[in-house]
Amino acid sequence: MKYDVVIVGAGPSGAASARGLVNEGFKVLVIDKKKLPRYKICSGIIFKKSQDIMERYFGKIPESVYVTPNLLKGVRFWTDSKNFSDWPFHKDGNGAPNVWRSDYDSWLIKNSGAEVRDCCCLKGFKDLGNSVILECYDTISHELIPITCGYVISAEGSKSVIRAGLEPEFEKGLKWFIAYQNYYEGTSDLDPYFYHGFLDSQYGDVYAWYNVKNGLQVFGTAVRKGGKIDPYLRKYSEMLKDRFGLTLKNLVREASCLGNDMCTTGNFYLGKGNILLVGEAAGFLNAFGEGISCALSTGLLAAEAISKSFTSGIDALGLYTELTKVERRQTKASWKLGSKIAGRELMPL
Ligand SMILES: Cc1cc2nc3c(=O)[nH]c(=O)nc-3n(C[C@H](O)[C@H](O)[C@H](O)COP(=O)(O)OP(=O)(O)OC[C@H]3O[C@@H](n4cnc5c(N)ncnc54)[C@H](O)[C@@H]3O)c2cc1C
Repeated sequence: MKYDVVIVGAGPSGAASARGLVNEGFKVLVIDKKKLPRYKICSGIIFKKSQDIMERYFGKIPESVYVTPNLLKGVRFWTDSKNFSDWPFHKDGNGAPNVWRSDYDSWLIKNSGAEVRDCCCLKGFKDLGNSVILECYDTISHELIPITCGYVISAEGSKSVIRAGLEPEFEKGLKWFIAYQNYYEGTSDLDPYFYHGFLDSQYGDVYAWYNVKNGLQVFGTAVRKGGKIDPYLRKYSEMLKDRFGLTLKNLVREASCLGNDMCTTGNFYLGKGNILLVGEAAGFLNAFGEGISCALSTGLLAAEAISKSFTSGIDALGLYTELTKVERRQTKASWKLGSKIAGRELMPL
């Protein structure tokens, strides 16, 4: 199997990379280790910057991807259980779409125009200089599949086989947090038209969050890796029950994931040779965990870099480094603003 570019990961950064490259006529394959559409732990709020990029490259989000309430008015940051400040999503529009990530990501990747292969897990790779051989594992047939390509884009999210393989020392230096989120049938007095963030550090090492999706009470918190999530979650749930009348019936789902400190330290990793990293794999994640906008934009920038490199002969990584300057600055600035809002370091790992 031979492709101009193989993209590892079918999240928003992979879909945007694919869309950009398909538009330029490249032969592109996107692989994902999961069966698609796959579940992704997320609050599923599409911020204005993501909406603008999406409408330009993918069109309008279909109705089927929305959950209720369809549009959220803004973020409500609580400094304690009584005082809050509201941050409207955008002054002139209706609000921010509230979606299931499984459906949203599936719509994006279908609209990328690229060939997609799911249940295909990248296990390792060999960089031969002018081509890369990816060692993939088909989780259905249990076969090992070698795939050859000119360029690779790692859109794997925070844990990246490619980043770890390219730069083991860099990987060792990363600090990690665990985000935990549960979904309950139930009720509460919190305004469902807002995404709520509780900034008091007694509810989590980063912050604790809450929103409503199709009537489900979705809330969670994060803790540095090695720390205990239970005490934070218990304290947070008790506060939601006492102060906001939270009632919980059936637990429908619980989920967790790992994130790292690349975004707060500004320690981005953009790639090596003909291998570029995008989205969270490269360290792009904005304050309070907003990451779809920078996943989409860096995916498109990687596609632009590869396309320009192909025609000009200038190396793709150099072009990509230059193109992502603003995005890197904005990501770091968002965490500074986040710390200012929280009145403390927002990710003390
Ligand atoms: C609790 C929580 C809430 C969030 N809420 C929001 C929000 O409301 N709005 C927002 O904008 N952002 C939010 N984010 C952030 C957002 O989810 C991420 O920043 C975004 O998904 C990153 O996109 P990505 O394409 O880089 O990676 P991902 O979306 O993580 O996609 C990576 C893909 O790569 C695949 N993959 C990984 N390794 C391999 C491998 N070895 N082989 C093959 N495939 C592989 C995975 O299966 C996955 O499909 C939230 C994050 C968390 C944790």
